[in-house]
Amino acid sequence: MSEITVEDLRKVYDVPGGKEVAVDDINLTVPDTDFLTLLGPSGCGKTTTLRCIAGLESPTSGEVYYDDDRMTDILAQERDISMVFQEIALYPHMRCIDNIAYPLKVRGVPKGERYERAREVAAILEVEELIEKYPAELSGGQRQRIAIARAVVRQPRAFLMDEPMTGLDEKLKVRMRKELKRVVEETDQTVVYVTHSQEEAMMLSDWIAVMNVGEIEQLGTPNEVYEHPNNKFVATFVGMPEMNVWPAEVDRDVDEEVCRIEIGDDVIRLPIRDEASHSERKERTSWDQRSDEGIEVGFRPQALALTSPKEGDFTAILDLVEPMGENDLCYLDTALGELRVVEDDTSRLEENTRVGVQLNRTAGYVFDRHDGSTVARTGESQVSAVGDESTDRARTDD
Ligand code: ATP
Repeated sequence: MSEITVEDLRKVYDVPGGKEVAVDDINLTVPDTDFLTLLGPSGCGKTTTLRCIAGLESPTSGEVYYDDDRMTDILAQERDISMVFQEIALYPHMRCIDNIAYPLKVRGVPKGERYERAREVAAILEVEELIEKYPAELSGGQRQRIAIARAVVRQPRAFLMDEPMTGLDEKLKVRMRKELKRVVEETDQTVVYVTHSQEEAMMLSDWIAVMNVGEIEQLGTPNEVYEHPNNKFVATFVGMPEMNVWPAEVDRDVDEEVCRIEIGDDVIRLPIRDEASHSERKERTSWDQRSDEGIEVGFRPQALALTSPKEGDFTAILDLVEPMGENDLCYLDTALGELRVVEDDTSRLEENTRVGVQLNRTAGYVFDRHDGSTVARTGESQVSAVGDESTDRARTDD
């Protein structure tokens, strides 16, 4: 296994009528035996980055290293890597055990040793009962497990996977995620994994690189990208359901800096905690310089709670309640558009009625409206709430 480093990687394709910048100067390191996921929307450059790491694409510029070995110009077949793709490519004329053992055969490992190793890996993947069968006799999930067994059998320098769960049903995906995590830990693999599923990324990864239009917006642990998003893109892409974001203004005429959000007739005023994002990769100018350009404030649906219209920070119309299993997703109509709230118990609520919405005041993210960067968090007031419009305002019940 190896540490993988990507330096200033850029890939530009010639396309009819111009150039397509698929990957735009990205840098990342995957420590030896760690699991890094490239996460992002369709077309953001995940697969191209992976293919450059694998040697299936030549970078336009930049370097790829495995440990200290420069791999940029080395052919894929000479890089000692294993790959698993969305399409499972097992040899149909070989039994599963022969498929698993095949990479060792190619490397000249003696027959006895390679079948012993293949059986060991089959045991780790818990597919011993399948190994005498042919791929056509297996379900999609079983084939995927055989493909993973074949990929990890020879302990490659890097294990690269591109959307390997696509095509599996939801239940199987959950099971495969658990199995994959266990297998890569047990076999000490260095993994680069591509997905647009944040659930997969959150569960599997030591590191997540959130990508957008060819760039890495943030590289951090799953907890860092969720709790301390660098910017509005990461904040709204990571987290389910999507974060609510509202335009807001900064008030500086009080004892502390306050952000003011107007939702129809309701005005919410929240103290600002001047706390820059945790990113070490992006230089930030100070809050003072940025806040004059205008801000937006984001709250995750889990940071809001529904109350009676007289309570809460503002009111809205409950439009739709969507059961999500353990809790419900409520869609509300507000003067600022649709609002999403996650509620544990909605049995007391009726659709098409006015409800109050209570904010968890310390859970807000303040974004620079101009470039989207996270510039501060909201907080509890350090001064008396007397005179706070949010507590003074009159309410009208529908
Ligand atoms: P998806 O999740 O849909 O697979 P992705 O994030 O993996 O997307 P890439 O496949 O890396 O994205 O593509 C990034 C960009 O580069 C896209 O705009 C795509 O159209 C373009 N691109 C990828 N491969 C080629 C190619 N061979 N020729 C021209 N453009 C390409």
